Amino acid sequence: MNIILLGPPGAGKGTQATQLVDSRGMVQLSTGDMLRAAVKAGTPTGLKAKAVMEAGQLVSDDIVSGIIGEALDDLSTDTGVIFDGYPRTAAQAESLDEILSARGRTLHHVIELEVNEDALVERITGRFTCASCGEGYHDSFKLPKVAGICDRCGSTEFKRRPDDNEETVRTRMAEYRAKTAPILPIYEARGIVSRVDGMADMAHVSSAIASILDTSILDRPQA
Ligand code: AMP
Repeated sequence: MNIILLGPPGAGKGTQATQLVDSRGMVQLSTGDMLRAAVKAGTPTGLKAKAVMEAGQLVSDDIVSGIIGEALDDLSTDTGVIFDGYPRTAAQAESLDEILSARGRTLHHVIELEVNEDALVERITGRFTCASCGEGYHDSFKLPKVAGICDRCGSTEFKRRPDDNEETVRTRMAEYRAKTAPILPIYEARGIVSRVDGMADMAHVSSAIASILDTSILDRPQA
């Protein structure tokens, strides 16, 4: 099963994708994570993307669609994929159709996490992660149990994304509204869009997503 998780920055796409990886053995393809890795490694793609990402704008369609195509080439067709943060423009949605059909894959679901943007700003600007194991924390909602020490691995190093400041977050949301939300009708016309309340707590969001995925398996015509 191949699915897209759609929603503005901070809607919980990454968190929900991680849950699906753990519970269903799907693979998460996050263009944001892949671009951050490229920036860190100083690759030509990373060098091109760095300033654009720090400004909260969108990296070029060719770059991200290229990254997605290459990542899919490393996976067998029967591995389910969660597209997290891709596609983000109509051109990317079109490329994704071509990329999938060239690899014998179909898109089964587009799940939109619906959220309140003002609450998201607090969610995003407070988040940080363990620099060693990646465990997620938040200034207001989830501090380490012992101050300054990661609950999971004991590291004392933490990091924040450079684009998680309020000004950049507002730009990222405006980009979502202007360029990403308008691609939903493409998928609505195919009858594959479901909406989930992304402001509910994490467990509720996970179970809502699980029931969308499981219902579609039950509904599938029997051979
Ligand atoms: P994310 O981690 O998904 O919030 O992405 C972080 C940043 O990476 C975005 O603000 C963009 O600058 C860039 N980015 C990630 N995915 C895409 C995409 N599909 N298209 C264009 N830019 C992207």
